Amino acid sequence: MIVYSTPLTDRFRNLDVRDGVLLRGPAGWGEFSPFWDYSDAECVPWLRAAVEAATLPFPEPVRATAPVNATVPAVGPQRAAEIVAASGCATVKVKVAQAGQSLGDDLARVAAVRDALGPGGAIRVDANGAWTVEEAIDALPRLDRAADGLEYAEQPCASVPDLARVRRAVTVPIAADESIRRASDPHAVVRAEAADVIVLKVQPLGGVRACLALADELGLPITVSSALESSVGIAAGVALAAALPNTNAAGLSTVALLRHDVTSTPLLPVDGSLPVGRVVPDAVVAAPPEVERAWLDRLDRVAQLAGVDLREVLA
Ligand SMILES: [Mg+2]
Repeated sequence: MIVYSTPLTDRFRNLDVRDGVLLRGPAGWGEFSPFWDYSDAECVPWLRAAVEAATLPFPEPVRATAPVNATVPAVGPQRAAEIVAASGCATVKVKVAQAGQSLGDDLARVAAVRDALGPGGAIRVDANGAWTVEEAIDALPRLDRAADGLEYAEQPCASVPDLARVRRAVTVPIAADESIRRASDPHAVVRAEAADVIVLKVQPLGGVRACLALADELGLPITVSSALESSVGIAAGVALAAALPNTNAAGLSTVALLRHDVTSTPLLPVDGSLPVGRVVPDAVVAAPPEVERAWLDRLDRVAQLAGVDLREVLA
């Protein structure tokens, strides 16, 4: 087991530092890195994902690489264009509905992304649940025009009933993210006909196989996304994206946000894609002793809750 800790290059999800535990089992390395605002009970699926990666091979891929999207945060139009041009990605996710900004800011950012991307690429927006139904119904057709066509809008509103109301009112396809990964019942989105696309994350949903089963049950196109893991955790996301029959460009191009990844071969996109394969943490910046202690305590508590004997997992 190794506990890693790294500063982020930019503040993200109100975090300046990312840390977690890497576990080595007979099949390779797995990552356990729930955010610190998750309760021990909420961390159980995260541990199942790490145990799966350490003890079982990744499922058989149907493609050798996973196309990924570039991510444009709530920056100005010029910076947005620079990020797109530098990315090499054919799909771009643009943050919208940021607190303290206006729809005009979002429209200018999306238009700049289309200019930089050219007519062939796909643009998706992510509101992280911040709009009311009325705001979403007003904003989405305008963003669709500014983008010259949106691939989809991710989580325009927070609740499943609100997503369904927006979806009935606009032609832009709707993707569910927060409504899946922190929901007690991910099937509620499908029953309510609230989404056209489902965002799946390996750790919060309990592993690659659990996500494949959920994707099969939900029956909608999938976008695999990261939980801001090191390359060890991202490798499990790539394994999922590469094994899914029906998948969009993945939100897995996030290790550049870590100042120190855990490996000398970080999972950074080449020509807009990430390769399938195992990652070995050969360049870990170890966490300070108090952080290491906190993670090992947390791991013990969650393992007990999950009924997992870590001595049987570790190689
Ligand atoms: Mg999202």
